Amino acid sequence: MDFSLTDTQQMTRATVRDFVEREIIPTSARYDESEEFPEAWAKKMGELGLFGIFVPPEYGGSGLDSVCYAITIEELSRGDASAAVIAAVCNGLACEPILRFGTEDQRREFLVPLAKGEWIGAYALTEPGSGSDAAALRTTARLEGDEWVLDGTKAFVSNGSQARVVIAYARTGEKKHDISAFLVPADAKGFTVSKKESKMGIRASDTVNLSFDGLRIPKGSLLGEMNRGFAIAMSTLDGGRIGIAAQALGIAQRALEESLKYAKQREAFGHRIAEFEGIQWKLADMATEIDAARLLMYRAARRKDLGMRHTYESSVAKLFASEAAHRAVDAAVQIHGGYGFVKDYVVEKLYRDQRVTEIYEGTSEVQRLVISRSVLGK
Ligand SMILES: Cc1cc2nc3c(=O)[nH]c(=O)nc-3n(C[C@H](O)[C@H](O)[C@H](O)COP(=O)(O)OP(=O)(O)OC[C@H]3O[C@@H](n4cnc5c(N)ncnc54)[C@H](O)[C@@H]3O)c2cc1C
Repeated sequence: MDFSLTDTQQMTRATVRDFVEREIIPTSARYDESEEFPEAWAKKMGELGLFGIFVPPEYGGSGLDSVCYAITIEELSRGDASAAVIAAVCNGLACEPILRFGTEDQRREFLVPLAKGEWIGAYALTEPGSGSDAAALRTTARLEGDEWVLDGTKAFVSNGSQARVVIAYARTGEKKHDISAFLVPADAKGFTVSKKESKMGIRASDTVNLSFDGLRIPKGSLLGEMNRGFAIAMSTLDGGRIGIAAQALGIAQRALEESLKYAKQREAFGHRIAEFEGIQWKLADMATEIDAARLLMYRAARRKDLGMRHTYESSVAKLFASEAAHRAVDAAVQIHGGYGFVKDYVVEKLYRDQRVTEIYEGTSEVQRLVISRSVLGK
């Protein structure tokens, strides 16, 4: 087995890391404090081709593989997890389903500007009354002549107030899984941003409620087949979860780097704290779990690139990486002592940013459901 990265994958890491050091890290605390959407980051990420990483060049993308995608999200998250979310949603939750399920016309109209970074995209599955049980959604879509009419409210939509197009899921039949996917332009009449969330972490990422009030879109806005939207939503998450694993990993990696730096300079009892076994073991556990999480993430990404089913591998990577990151940020705050609890040190922010990786794109409980179904052969 070859665990080395290709030249392109190494170059992707170096390019994104350089961008993060220069443009993200210096302004990260400011955006965290103000909860403002970082337009400057989004513009630059789009220009660098970071919104259409695995989209083929004929549709305006960078034509790289999913391992490059995972590396990009990890590196962005090492700088600021909000930057990683903005890019992950554009790539994994907006470009991916249009590339896989869109018609040629839909790809030209929606995928090309998204992949080129000219537009921001969003994915609206969750509703105020349904999250883990996504198929219980209540937004409806009915065909009236040549138009679909959508009514309902979507919750927790990342990039929601910034997006030019939202992939929204709505009920189109009587049965629980009679759900369809739609390409909804944000300038459609009846589209409103009805609430902006104020969050514990990833505060620079945009999280909003969207209301569709008699929203009319052309008949050709259906993405994929009618009543097949739930399968589109779930298979989109198979890829999306690789992105969340990468996001968690970037946070954990930064927590380790900051802890190493601090432990080598902070003194107690006449020694650097890095000389204490109690601190060394924490660092060793962080490094070990980060390595394991990264290999799980690469495995899932590689299987996706080979066109193999990767539902199980993505869930395992997301579950392990997010929980390893939880342990890593906790250890990082502990290693920093009182300074880990104040905003002068970035570990305080890492501690808050990590938490959502165990919640979105399927909570840890939902990942365990997916994994147990697979191991039980259900
Ligand atoms: C910052 C942020 C950004 C988000 N971005 C998006 C987005 O862009 N698009 C989108 O569609 N959604 C988004 N979400 C929504 C997210 O995916 C949901 O919050 C998540 O799926 C959980 O749903 P819920 O919040 O309704 O919790 P619930 O489903 O109500 O779950 C509550 C608790 O019950 C547990 N639980 C539920 N069912 C089971 C079960 N069968 N067995 C055991 N335990 C169970 C859950 O694990 C959880 O602990 C975002 C959420 C956040 C916080």
